[in-house]
Amino acid sequence: MARFDLDNLVFANKDVLREDWQPDNLAERDAEMDTCASALRPLLRGNQPDNLFLYGLTGVGKTAATHALITELLDAAADVERHLEVVELNCTGITSSYQVAVNLVNEMRTGDAHSHALTTVSLEKDPLPETGHPQKRVFRELLKDFESAGGDVIVVLDEIDTIGSDDDILYELPRARKTYDIDVNLGLIGISNDFKFRENLSPKVKDSLCEKEVHFQPYDAEQLVRILEKRADRALAEGVLAEGVVPLCAAMAAQDSGSARQALRLLRIAGDFAENGPSDGDPRITEEHVRRAEEEIQRQQVVEGMEELTRHGKLVLLTVAHLEAEGETPERTKVIHQRYRQVSKREGSDPLKRRAMHDHLTDLTLQGVLTKIDDTSGRGNYNQYELDVELDSAIDALEVEFDDLTAVRETAHRNHVL
Ligand code: ADP
Ligand code: MG
Repeated sequence: MARFDLDNLVFANKDVLREDWQPDNLAERDAEMDTCASALRPLLRGNQPDNLFLYGLTGVGKTAATHALITELLDAAADVERHLEVVELNCTGITSSYQVAVNLVNEMRTGDAHSHALTTVSLEKDPLPETGHPQKRVFRELLKDFESAGGDVIVVLDEIDTIGSDDDILYELPRARKTYDIDVNLGLIGISNDFKFRENLSPKVKDSLCEKEVHFQPYDAEQLVRILEKRADRALAEGVLAEGVVPLCAAMAAQDSGSARQALRLLRIAGDFAENGPSDGDPRITEEHVRRAEEEIQRQQVVEGMEELTRHGKLVLLTVAHLEAEGETPERTKVIHQRYRQVSKREGSDPLKRRAMHDHLTDLTLQGVLTKIDDTSGRGNYNQYELDVELDSAIDALEVEFDDLTAVRETAHRNHVL
């Protein structure tokens, strides 16, 4: 097949499976969107709306629902000839209220260069420098900009948990009318993946920000099937989906996290395998491709997780990989520690004591890299550990840190575990 041949492709429009693709109307979130709509509706009459706090695990449609909702709201505002503006900010990497305020101001002042899809405000003012002003001054500047924008403004703060306890802005914005004597109707929408953030909000912030709270539950398998089918219809060429593929992606994602993001990712990667794999001119996505996609995602996750591990975390993982290659897992802490001492010395590191090493076993278990097995057979009660990821993936990841792991692979092949 010619390299750029466009026949026999699996994807008709691959963008539709991308995470940032915005569905026209968002299915499966009617109840949540109704609640949000009732909070914001007063804006259409020029009244003060309720503030909203949207929370739930990652990938459950919080951002997508907000985008769909705001689009509907702007249409409704245009219908009744109400001037309504939106400023959106994703707070990833932003750690203080001060930075949120500066970024909001500059989001409104950068004109066409808006970095956020929902932002409509565009002011002819010079951007603010990132530092060097008292916080009160920046807040005042922000509110004056809201006023310049027309006074009826929705502020969307996505992934707001990154500001932690530095949450003044969430208190100040809702009561800006009083504090700064400024004529604005402000609708604040905070979005968070982090349940602790919500619990730890100071009571005064909770009162003002969380006037209406909307919890986005994880999707179940049936919902994910319906979500995927819609996207697959537009994304894939006709007839390329083998039966059972969508239900399998949905089931895997539902079991793990209930995340639509994960389900879409499985389908997209499975499609990649189908499109790029050997084919006899009849490319089809099969359940086998989905299983490979899952392994691929898992491998990527381990590799990413590995970057976060400490040196000793990596040494402990390497030790368990050795044992796994030898067919000796699950293995008890005591034996793992003996091997770990040898491995550490060979790699030029001072080994930790058994208890400290055990902490790493626990961490790796929490991260899903290892599994702990309680062995209550025989006398005593032992914890045993084995890999919870493919040995192959673990070795791939470890090769970033350790020079030559061919010996481990060879051992594994000899023992038929690879
Ligand atoms: P969150 O903000 O909760 O982490 P997102 O809104 O970014 O999750 O959703 C993750 C991905 O799943 C996006 O690509 C989004 O379009 C898609 N998605 C989520 N919910 C739905 C749904 N109900 N219908 C269609 N696509 C959805
Ligand atoms: Mg989001």
